[in-house]
Amino acid sequence: MNIVLLGAPGAGKGTQAVKIEEKFFLTHISTGDMFRANIKDGTEIGKLAKTYIDAGKLVPDGVTCEIVKESLKKVKGGYLLDGFPRNLFQAEELDKFANIDLCLNLEVDTSLLLDRICGRRMCHCGATYHVSTLGGKTTCERCGKPLYQREDDNPQTVKARLATYEDQTAPLKNYYLAENKLATVDCGAKSPDEVFKMVCAVLEKFNK
Ligand code: ADP
Ligand code: ZN
Repeated sequence: MNIVLLGAPGAGKGTQAVKIEEKFFLTHISTGDMFRANIKDGTEIGKLAKTYIDAGKLVPDGVTCEIVKESLKKVKGGYLLDGFPRNLFQAEELDKFANIDLCLNLEVDTSLLLDRICGRRMCHCGATYHVSTLGGKTTCERCGKPLYQREDDNPQTVKARLATYEDQTAPLKNYYLAENKLATVDCGAKSPDEVFKMVCAVLEKFNK
């Protein structure tokens, strides 16, 4: 089963991806994580990506499609694409080198997103938290490492990311709808566990 995970920044893609990969034995591929690893390592791709990420814009399609294509070559079994494709061009490219079975769309009320992202704290193990539920804790529940805040999780960049999403990524819902591959989960203000139950219902039905 090869899945594309779609959703606005802050919709909970990363949170759900961690749960999905554990339960359904899929390889989680996040373009955002790959770019951040490149930035950390100081690679050329990292240097290029940083200017776009800081501005809340999309990293150019050529580089992005290439790193996804390369990483899919190494994957055995099913995978979960998180953060790719992010525009129509990428979706069309993806269909040239991959067979996507399903696009899982996490639908969240836009008004919730700004607060969610700006209060978000991350761990290098992939876990995500929100300050409102951490009770002052600064380490990860899952692995104990210190939490950090993403540099692009500031109000100005987040506003640009949300605009980029509406403009370029949201139209992908229609792309996958037309291919008969769209499954939307209405997340509302539900907790990650509640959302995961709905996600499982979709994936179990689909996986039969
Ligand atoms: P979020 O979904 O919360 O915005 P991501 O980690 O998926 O976070 O992405 C962070 C940033 O990385 C994006 O704002 C964008 O600049 C860049 N990025 C990630 N995936 C892509 C992609 N498929 N195409 C272009 N840029 C991307
Ligand atoms: Zn952790």
